[in-house]
Amino acid sequence: MELVDTHNHLDLPVFKTDFDEVLQSAREAGIVAQVLPGVCRAGWQRIVSLSAEHADLHAAIGLHPLYMTHHGRDDLELLRSHGGTGNLVAIGEIGLDYYVQDVDRAAQQELFEAQLAVAAEFRLPVLLHVRKAHDQVQAILRRKHFDCGGIVHAFSGSLQQAEKYLQLGFLISVCGSVTYDRATRIRSVIAALPLESLVLETDAPDIPPATHHGERNSPAYLPEILLAAAALRRESKEEIAAQTTANSRRLLFPDSL
Ligand SMILES: [Zn+2]
Repeated sequence: MELVDTHNHLDLPVFKTDFDEVLQSAREAGIVAQVLPGVCRAGWQRIVSLSAEHADLHAAIGLHPLYMTHHGRDDLELLRSHGGTGNLVAIGEIGLDYYVQDVDRAAQQELFEAQLAVAAEFRLPVLLHVRKAHDQVQAILRRKHFDCGGIVHAFSGSLQQAEKYLQLGFLISVCGSVTYDRATRIRSVIAALPLESLVLETDAPDIPPATHHGERNSPAYLPEILLAAAALRRESKEEIAAQTTANSRRLLFPDSL
């Protein structure tokens, strides 16, 4: 089985000491491609370098809505210059996060719209980070006529919100939260969506699956998310693996088809 981890942070210092072992264990678990999204300018160069060194690691860079105080005016210009290199598979992770109360929402929105414009300029999909702001994000995507698609990472909204993303040309990403029995809402949403709309992600080192609760998450645990999805849906794990991998490839690596 071939799987794609559409979102993890293998570039972070928490993986520095055993990076090679983690990458090897992911490959042994059948992970044929991984997307490393950037959250701040300071991390972009390592992501781009890792993607140049390893054929199965792919770079996405962006300015995350939770780190507003880290971002500077000229970061957008640097994002544009990376966008033109052909080294990126997406812009991300970008979006709105209204879960945290003390973040400047107007500034988040302005930054999100500016990054959507960069993605549109280079015809790149976007990796969305959205909490408590799905309606606002969808309104912006509609108003901007954004038509490059993307992935809603670690989706945790309602079925109705998921269906609106599908109408906007987006895929929904299934993460480790579906491995928890008590996560009843997201489990029912993932059970109900069409398989053509789903991709998988670990978000490592965050959101470890239930069997690794409290530990550092790893891309090697992606098969556990696949198994949880298969338990919720009527398709076999082989069918879900094949279709989510095809969905990921079509959006992110169309040249490798
Ligand atoms: Zn992330």
